[in-house]
Amino acid sequence: MKWLIILFLLLLLVAIVAWQYRRQLMTAWFMYQTFRKMRKRMKPPNEKQVEPKTRSGDTELVRCPKCQKWMAKEDGVKLKSDYFCSLACLEESVTFNK
Ligand SMILES: [Zn+2]
Repeated sequence: MKWLIILFLLLLLVAIVAWQYRRQLMTAWFMYQTFRKMRKRMKPPNEKQVEPKTRSGDTELVRCPKCQKWMAKEDGVKLKSDYFCSLACLEESVTFNK
């Protein structure tokens, strides 16, 4: 029974402290969440860099009609029947055709 009272008082103290510093705690929590989101956003490019090494050899190669660079079909940006190596090449090609 003595332990229960100590535990209750401790919880009450924590609750009071948490209530007193709720703004700081909220800010800290918000910063932690933002940090986690940032890390999640940073992760995908790293996974993409590792991917080509483990990829099987049955990928089809296509040539960028703009800069004549060869790349895997799934890495290219598709426009009608053409595959461009990047969005920059696609945009350049579109403005060139105008
Ligand atoms: Zn290109």
